[in-house]
Amino acid sequence: NNHGRVINFGAGPSALPEPVLEEAAKGLFNFQNTGIGIAEISHRSKEFTSFIANLESLIRKQLDVPPTHEILFTQGGGSNQFSAVVLNMLARWRLLHPEAPAEEAVMDYVVTGSWSKKAMEEAKRLGGGRVNAVADSRQFSQTGKAFDNIPSHDAYKFSRDPALIYYCENETVDGVEFSHEESSPAAFPFQLLGQSTEKQLLPLVADYSSSFMCRPIPRLADHAIVYAGAQKNIGPAGLTVIIARKDCLVDVDAAARLGAAPVPIMLSWKTLSDSKSLYNTPSVLSIYMTGLVLERIDSLGGLKYFEDLNRRKASKVYAAVKEGQDRGVFQKKVKDGSESWMNVVFEVFGEGAEKRFLDGAEKKGMKGLKGHRSVGGIRVSLYNAITEEQVDTLVTYMNDFVAEETK
Ligand code: PLP
Repeated sequence: NNHGRVINFGAGPSALPEPVLEEAAKGLFNFQNTGIGIAEISHRSKEFTSFIANLESLIRKQLDVPPTHEILFTQGGGSNQFSAVVLNMLARWRLLHPEAPAEEAVMDYVVTGSWSKKAMEEAKRLGGGRVNAVADSRQFSQTGKAFDNIPSHDAYKFSRDPALIYYCENETVDGVEFSHEESSPAAFPFQLLGQSTEKQLLPLVADYSSSFMCRPIPRLADHAIVYAGAQKNIGPAGLTVIIARKDCLVDVDAAARLGAAPVPIMLSWKTLSDSKSLYNTPSVLSIYMTGLVLERIDSLGGLKYFEDLNRRKASKVYAAVKEGQDRGVFQKKVKDGSESWMNVVFEVFGEGAEKRFLDGAEKKGMKGLKGHRSVGGIRVSLYNAITEEQVDTLVTYMNDFVAEETK
């Protein structure tokens, strides 16, 4: 009995593994034999605090998070971190440069899609430094306005000693992602930043919202901050995970006394750290379900298992897009090498064809395939909970659709 569920290829919130839903339903009534449901239990109870400690250690184990970094939990999603990143990193910069004029604080943003663009806009809104678009991939698109590529390494113009360097690993709307093959021209240009040394700690910040826990994170140790909302790969909305290098947990009040902007207490990473992520009431239910997902990831073989699975899933869907493209029905939107593993975007050619594609999919029990409203087209999201069997169902449908359209 799957409770009448369909295959949900939505971009987020997205599908969760059914065994986790079954388990969570029990926890809603009675969490770990406390007699109290998970949404009702105190976040300070020993059962919950040990649950959250276990969640943290599972993330640490799976991503091989080094002891230089803490794992923090908060709310407000990726969007809240757009602001928190700016405020905390500017406070950090101020403490490192107590005498420097504020305009010397430069914030480098790599813009490869809608989300990094939005993050950069928030940096401009909050002010407190200069914002530099290190590279804007639209410049390298055919039309001059599409986010359809990862720029080649000679396009990046990093500042000297910036307060932060920001990128979004996977652009959920545009389906563009940095390659994890070090030799690929679409890999993140870590070598242009140099190595982190004790003196020269990179202020590198990455938004991993839509690719967290789908495979290992390259050069995690070189990052100041990696953050992600839970609602794509690991849980329901409401939980945000931050992996923070300890030098970024700065005393924002001390920085404010030196002229940095005051930081709302809930946005201060140090507040989260000092309170073990329990400064206020956290999203207990979301944390619980995320913990169940992480236990499942662990029991299935960890990120190696998911990396292999997700590679196979994405390559099957891209192969079907290619097939359709060769026959004039589909058009892949992203340049070779910059394609996302998590969000496959393509166009369907022909009068009314996109609607026929979506309607036909829905008849076969597949939903969530409509592209983001800002870009249109089709978007197939392939987060961890999507099984290979479900992908096979979609691929068969795509092939049948192409055959029908070219009959
Ligand atoms: N960053 C990326 C890559 C996203 O995909 C999203 C949401 O889809 C966000 C940030 C914003 O996240 P939230 O809705 O959790 O604020």
